[in-house]
Amino acid sequence: GVYFEGENRTAVINPGKNLNSYRLRLGTTSIPCCHGLSRLNYLERFQDKPEYFALLSNGQRHNNPGLPHPGQLCYSSGIREEIYQDAKTLLTGQGLEKRPGLEKANLWRFREHHAGFADIMPQDSFTPCQCEKCKKAYTDETHYASDLMWGLTVEIANRLKAENVPGCVTMMGYRPYRRVPEFPIPDNVMVMVAQSGPWYMLDAARHEQENSEIKAWAKKMNQKVWLWNYANKLSSLAMPGIPAYTPRAIGRYYQKLAPWIFGAFVESESDRFLYMAMNHYLFAKIAWDNSLNPDATVDEFYRLMFGPAASEMQLILDRFEDIWTSKVAGRVVETALGPMGSPPSDYDLWNTVFSPALLQQISTEFDRAEKLAATGSLEAQRVQLFRREYLEPLQQASAAYRDKTDAVKGLHFHLGEAPASTVWLRPFKGKNSTEPDKGKVNTRVQAFFGPEALHFIFDCDEPAMDQTVAVARKFDDPEIWKDNSVELFLNPSNDRKTYYQILVNSQGSAADQSLVKLGTNSQHDWSWNANAEINVAPSATGFRVEIAVPYQSLPGLEREQFRANFTRNRILADLREIETLYSWSPFIRGFHDLENFGTLGSSRQPLLVNGDFSFEPAPWSARHWGLWDEKRNWLEGWIGSNELDQNVRDLEIFFSPPASIRLVSTTGRAGVSYWSVHKLQPGKRYRISYMLKLDNVTPVKGGGGAVLNLWDVANRWFPAHNLPSGTADWTRQSFEFTAAPGTNQEKPSVIRLTLLNANGTAWFDDVELIQLEDLPAGQ
Ligand SMILES: [Zn+2]
Repeated sequence: GVYFEGENRTAVINPGKNLNSYRLRLGTTSIPCCHGLSRLNYLERFQDKPEYFALLSNGQRHNNPGLPHPGQLCYSSGIREEIYQDAKTLLTGQGLEKRPGLEKANLWRFREHHAGFADIMPQDSFTPCQCEKCKKAYTDETHYASDLMWGLTVEIANRLKAENVPGCVTMMGYRPYRRVPEFPIPDNVMVMVAQSGPWYMLDAARHEQENSEIKAWAKKMNQKVWLWNYANKLSSLAMPGIPAYTPRAIGRYYQKLAPWIFGAFVESESDRFLYMAMNHYLFAKIAWDNSLNPDATVDEFYRLMFGPAASEMQLILDRFEDIWTSKVAGRVVETALGPMGSPPSDYDLWNTVFSPALLQQISTEFDRAEKLAATGSLEAQRVQLFRREYLEPLQQASAAYRDKTDAVKGLHFHLGEAPASTVWLRPFKGKNSTEPDKGKVNTRVQAFFGPEALHFIFDCDEPAMDQTVAVARKFDDPEIWKDNSVELFLNPSNDRKTYYQILVNSQGSAADQSLVKLGTNSQHDWSWNANAEINVAPSATGFRVEIAVPYQSLPGLEREQFRANFTRNRILADLREIETLYSWSPFIRGFHDLENFGTLGSSRQPLLVNGDFSFEPAPWSARHWGLWDEKRNWLEGWIGSNELDQNVRDLEIFFSPPASIRLVSTTGRAGVSYWSVHKLQPGKRYRISYMLKLDNVTPVKGGGGAVLNLWDVANRWFPAHNLPSGTADWTRQSFEFTAAPGTNQEKPSVIRLTLLNANGTAWFDDVELIQLEDLPAGQ
C-alpha cells in the first residue's frame, strides 16, 4: 500500500500511514508535552534580555542560536513571569497582542500546544544555568533540577488556578528532573514520564528502577500518568539494516504497566517501515484492550500471515526479537562498576551478533519458509517481502561494514623521529552537505617520536581569533570541550579498548582522562594524568597547540602501529555560518568511535612520492611533479600523460590541501596519469588506498567507473569489480594485494588513475602504497 515507503521516507504526512493508524485504533487523544518552552520563540523575543538565558561555564549566555539545542533558560530569572504569562495566554486564548513575538511561535505544532494544554517542558538536552541562584536550587543527585523545575511548574499551576484559568499545564519527568518532589502538585498539572521502556526489560535492575519511578509519579498524582518511551533506532541504535522487530516485548511492557498509565507516546524512528510495523500493531492492540495476551496475539499474527510457513517464520522473526532485546538494544555488559547497558561495537555486531554464519543460516531458513508456502500464494509473497525487507538489508549492511573496515585500515599516518608529513582535519557531520568546504577552516597535524615523548603539533587556522570562546579553566574540567579547543585520542596498545583523551583549549587549559570502551559506550577515569607538556601560542594564521606525551604515560605503546584520532572544536561567539567540529578520520560516528580511528606508527613508510599532489609542477613542464636530479633524470614522483588536461591539478576541490587531481571524461575514458613503482617487490604484500570523489560519473559500458590500475606483470584493477560511479563525496578506497612473481624485473611497475568506460568527473587524492608485514607461515 501507499504507507509502505521502505528506505525512501520523504513524506512526513502520509495518508496511507494515517489510514493504518485508524485501522489500529491508535492515538485517541494527543496531549501535548514535548519541550514546549523551546517553541515559544524566546531567542527572538528576548534578544535584549540575555539574563533570561542559562549562564554557561565559559561566561556566555545560552542565547546563541548556533548552539546545539539553543535557548536554555535561567529558571531563576524574569523568564518565570514570561512563562506564566505565555501559559495564561495559551490557555485562555486571550491577550496575544500583549505578548509580542508569541504569535510567531510554533503554536501550530500539535505535539506541544493545542487548546486546553500549556506545555512548559524545558528545551531538550537540559543545560544547567550556572548562576548563583540556580546553583543553589540544584540538589546533589542525578535529578538535580527536580525541585527547581517542579517548583516552577507548581507556581505556574497554582497562579492559573487562583485566576480561574481553565485547562492544564503539562510537564515531563525527564533527565535531570524526573524525581518526584516532596511538595504538593495541584491537579491542573498533567505529568508525562520519560523512560527508555520496552526494549530494556531484560535488564532487570534498569527495568525495575524505571517502573518504580513511574509508580511513584502515579502515586504522587493520585491518578495514572502517561509515558514517553524510546523504542526507536536513533543515535547508538541507528544501525541501518538491523531489524528492531520486538512485538512481544512491546506487548508485555504495556500490559504490565497498564495499572499505572493511561497512555504512551512510543517514539519509534526507523530506517524501514516493516521493522516497526508489528511493534506498532502490538502497542495498539494492548493499549486498546489491556486484557489481551501479547504472546497469543503475536502467534496469531504468524498463523494468519504465513499459513503453512508460520512456524519457520516464527523461528526467524522471534530470533530477530531475541537478538535486538538481548544482544543489541538491551545488551548488558559486566563492568567493574556493575552491569551497564551498552550496544555492541560494529566489530561485535558483524562478527559475533550477526556473524556471517548466522546470516547464511537465516537465508536457508527463508528458503525453507518459501517452500512451505504454496508457490505463488499470498503467504509465499509475504515470506518474500520479509526476506527483501529483513534479510537483504542485513546482508548489505554486513558487506558495507567489511568494505568500511578495509577503508579504515588505509588511513595511516607514518611517524618518524622529526615532524615530516602532515594530516588535515575535515568537518565532522558538516552542516552543509552540498558544499562541505563552506564555512570550513584548515587544521594541520604533525606528529613524531621524540627521545622522551610522543609529540603532536596542531596548527589551527583561525581568521576570527578575537571571536573565539575559551576561558582559563582548572585542570581536568570536563566542560573544556565546550571551548574553542583541540582533542587528541590515543590507543597506544592498539587493543581497541583502553584509550586516552587529551583536550586543550585555545587559552592553554587542559584536561585528560583514560577510558575503557564497552561496546559503543566508554567508562571514564578523569583521575588519569598524561603528565603531558602542553604549549599553546598564537601563530601567523591562528594558533598552534603542541602536546608532548611522555612514553611513561603510554604503557604498551605499539610504536609500529596504534590507533589515534585528532579532532577540533571551533567555537566562536556566533556559530551559525561555520563548521564547528573537525576530525582526521572521516569514518567515525562520534569522537569516541575508537574502532574507526586512523592508525599512527613507525611502520609502513609510504612508497609513493607526491601521493597527496602537494608538489608544484616542475618549472620546465606543466605535467611533471616529482623529484629530479640536476640532469632532469626522473627519480620519483608523478607524471601526467601528454593527453592529459594541464588543469588536472585541482586547487579548489581536494581531500587534503593543497590539491587533488581531477579527471574529466566525455569520451568514455580519461586519466593515464602515473607513478613508476620501483619499490614494489615480487611476493611481498601491500596495501594501496586512495580518496575518491565523484560527480555524475556515468558508465558508457557495463562495469565502467573510477578505478586505480596497477601494472606489475599484468593489469590489476582496484576495485576489481563494481567500479564506483554516480555522485559521491570523498570516500576512501583500500585494497590489499601481493605483488606478482617477476614484478619490476623486465619492466617497471606503474600505477595509473583513470575513469574507465565512463563519463563524468572523478577526483583522486591521498594515494598511498605501503608494504604490509609478512604473514606468519600457514596463514
Ligand atoms: Zn540561573
